[in-house]
Amino acid sequence: MTFKDLQLNAKILKAVSEQNYSTPTPIQEKTIPLVLDGIDVIGCAQTGTGKTAAFALPILERLFNLADAKKGEKQIKALIVTPTRELTIQIEENFKMYSTYTNLRTASVYGGISIEPQIELLKKGVDILIATPGRLLDLHKRDILNLDYIQTLVLDEADMMLDMGFIDDVKKIARLCPPKKQTLLFSATMPPKIDALANELLTEPEKVSVSVLSSAAKTISQELYMVPKPQKIELCLHLLRNDLRGNMIIFRRTKFGVDKLEETLLKNKYKVDTIHGDKTQVARTKALNKFKNNDVNILIATDVAARGIDIPDLDIVINFDLPNIPEAYVHRIGRTGRAGKEGRALSFCSADEKTYVKEIQQLLGKLIPIEENHPYPLDPAAKPEVHKKQGSKYKKGRKSVGSKAKKKRWY
Ligand code: AMP
Repeated sequence: MTFKDLQLNAKILKAVSEQNYSTPTPIQEKTIPLVLDGIDVIGCAQTGTGKTAAFALPILERLFNLADAKKGEKQIKALIVTPTRELTIQIEENFKMYSTYTNLRTASVYGGISIEPQIELLKKGVDILIATPGRLLDLHKRDILNLDYIQTLVLDEADMMLDMGFIDDVKKIARLCPPKKQTLLFSATMPPKIDALANELLTEPEKVSVSVLSSAAKTISQELYMVPKPQKIELCLHLLRNDLRGNMIIFRRTKFGVDKLEETLLKNKYKVDTIHGDKTQVARTKALNKFKNNDVNILIATDVAARGIDIPDLDIVINFDLPNIPEAYVHRIGRTGRAGKEGRALSFCSADEKTYVKEIQQLLGKLIPIEENHPYPLDPAAKPEVHKKQGSKYKKGRKSVGSKAKKKRWY
């Protein structure tokens, strides 16, 4: 299938071809025709699958075809609600790229920076608005926003919005839009609360899914390093010196952990920057740009700060700390192996994190191979029930998490 087969107009096709997208990704193939038909969609897909274009392209196509858009009347007709500022900026960039040859105007609003320029921007009129929930509601309260013309509402990374406590805000936003509209909900995972939200907000939705580790993520090789907690830093330095090349994100659970690791890596002359919630928006954007421009090749981040950010040529993800929410693992490793590229995901597991590995493996429905060839092994007796990289047999006489997971269909 080609983008042309998806009935997009020549102006959008031109912008798409300038992005060097040759064929639509699976989520795009499935989603674009539904959105063009005005159908509500529940999209189960993580970042890296091409999900932004899956909703952005048909939204642009529909707006492009509206007579009033052609006349240049600016009312917000598509609203995309996302959990983080980074994601908001990224989606805005995508919309702007794809609409280069149209007269559709896109803007974004998010917290952490002054509201005044955003008010000015909105007063000029936009067709497509991308927003984080808090700032959006703030602007609405100030009577700056008119949501009466919304035709399509997109809730992106809905599970993340749930995790961050935004669900009531999201429901409020949906109620502020006209009852007759198209609603698209995208989520990397589908916990029951997201199902319930979809039931409440969507009308006869079609479900589209790209399984968590299919397409983009198939190309990610996953490795588990069993290591005593105090030696994780040594292991990290050892791997950086001897094995790892390219751009990488190192995830830590806490802001404190991020800062501590940054200090050590800087002392060892690595080019590093960090993003976490305590940094100002300006500092986070600066760090991200340095990373994107290859001024630094190591970014250390917490989950919330890094969720959804798109770095096309990321080679490696290191889970320095394992996340206590298994879905976060999927989000983290989804930063690499994009668009068919090969990626590596290395996870450091200390004795107290073994339960996290079990939960992650259950979510994946498979075992993560252990990499034993490193100088800082955990006591062999302390290994979790995991799949060894060499010799693909599960340990006998133990209850294997993997075999249990295999019986269950997770996605
Ligand atoms: P997303 O999942 O929307 O964050 O997209 C992940 C990355 O894939 C982005 O860098 C997009 O520019 C890129 N991308 C989206 N669609 C395609 C496509 N059809 N072919 C190649 N790359 C794509």
